[in-house]
Amino acid sequence: MTTAVYPGSFDPIHYGHIDIAKRAAKIFDTVIWAAYDRPMKNLMFSTEERIAFMREAAKDFPNIKVMPYHGLTVQFARSIGATVMVRGLRVTYDFEIEYQTALTNRQLAEDIDTICLMTSLKYAFVSSSTLKEVAFLNGPISTIVPPFVEEALRKRLAQLGEDHDEKVKIVSLRE
Ligand code: ADP
Repeated sequence: MTTAVYPGSFDPIHYGHIDIAKRAAKIFDTVIWAAYDRPMKNLMFSTEERIAFMREAAKDFPNIKVMPYHGLTVQFARSIGATVMVRGLRVTYDFEIEYQTALTNRQLAEDIDTICLMTSLKYAFVSSSTLKEVAFLNGPISTIVPPFVEEALRKRLAQLGEDHDEKVKIVSLRE
C-alpha cells in the first residue's frame, strides 16, 4: 500500500491542481492532498478555506484525503506514512523549482521520493497567480476553477474593495 502526499499552497485550487490530484489517485493507494498552512507568499484564502475547496473537489474520490499541514513537508509526509511526494509540472521553469525542491527534500529524507506528473495540455498555462490576476481584472475564470471557487474568489474580491491588489499581492515563490 503506497501513500503519496500532494503538497502545495493551493491558494486557491484550480483545475490544473485537481487534475494532478485525481491522476495521482489512480496511481497510488492513498493520496493525501495537503495544504501548507504558511507558505512564503501572501495568501488570499485561509487554510480552512483552501481545505474546504479541496475537500469539495475531492469528494467523489475516496482515496484522496485532504489535510492541512505545517512545518517541513518531509516531516509531515513521514508522520502520515507517505513515501512519495507528488508534484505537477507545467513549463520548463517549474522543472527547475521542482528539481531543486526534490533534491533538498531527498537530502532531508532519503526514504521519500518525489514524482512529478506532467500537466494536462489544457492546464499548462493555469496557475493560482494568473487566476487571481484575471479575477482581479474581472475576466472570465470559469474554465480555470470550479464554480464554488469562482464564487468564493469573486466574493473575496468584493470584500477587499477597490484596492484589493494592494491588500493581496500576487506573489508566488515561482515569480
Ligand atoms: P506551490 O506548491 O509552489 O505553492 P501551488 O500550490 O500552486 O504552488 O502548486 C502545487 C503543485 O501543483 C506544484 O507542484 C505545481 O507545480 C502544481 N501545479 C500548479 N498548477 C498546475 C497546473 N496547471 N498543472 C499541473 N500542475 C500544476
